[in-house]
Amino acid sequence: MKQPIRVLIAKPGLDGHDRGALIIAQALRDHGMEVIYTGLRQSPVQIARAAVQEDVDVVGLSSLSGAHKSLFPKVVEALAVENASDIPVIGGGVIPAEDIPFLEESGVQKIFTSGSPTDAIAVYIKQLMNHEAREAPKKVSHIGIAVESIESALPFYQNTLGLQLESVEEVESEQVRVAFLRIGESRFELLEPTSDESPVRKFITKRGEGIHHIALEVDDIASRLKQYEEEGVSLIHNEPKKGAHDSQVAFLHPKAAGGVMFELCQPNQED
Ligand code: ZN
Repeated sequence: MKQPIRVLIAKPGLDGHDRGALIIAQALRDHGMEVIYTGLRQSPVQIARAAVQEDVDVVGLSSLSGAHKSLFPKVVEALAVENASDIPVIGGGVIPAEDIPFLEESGVQKIFTSGSPTDAIAVYIKQLMNHEAREAPKKVSHIGIAVESIESALPFYQNTLGLQLESVEEVESEQVRVAFLRIGESRFELLEPTSDESPVRKFITKRGEGIHHIALEVDDIASRLKQYEEEGVSLIHNEPKKGAHDSQVAFLHPKAAGGVMFELCQPNQED
């Protein structure tokens, strides 16, 4: 049997609260990991020594005090002093988004903001251990725009913007006619409902014409959906289905992304 992943959860600095750290520790145990918790107010050197002594695979730091910018990099440095730079450090707690680039440049592998679901952290650690850290989507494949009529919408895109109409086709699964206009390495996708049952018809009735979704190009749509599902991300489609140009597509629920609907899109190999 495979050895369980060992994680050291530590709270550097002077925080007096460890509820968040304890919740993470429990969530990781629920995912089958062995978790060692150092307790409050540990120095970076103590944390690095504990990591080596306990022979952990990952160090997870939590900070609420605002001192993460000095303390997290100090833990990374202290691990280097112990010849343990191969132990990845991840961090979480109350950390403003502005500080994340600095921390990740300072050697912290990944920062989870306070909104991150605990399942996502567990899945990330498992991927890290399997050396299959997830690649970010490649690019914005297209921006989907709901319109009453492609013909009425086209003059703006074709004449005002001067974009070239690439193709128009019907996508039966979504009951829409779609028109693609290329812009750089991305596209606009105009979506016109072909029946009252079309999700795009329902969208226009509820919110009017306008931006409907942002599509991200990926090359592993099925496994990515499976991972998202495991992490508790709200999905509209759990399985890929057939989109325009014989691509495979699936939508995430807008509540997964603060009201924005994202589509994952894997182009047809022959395209
Ligand atoms: Zn689309």
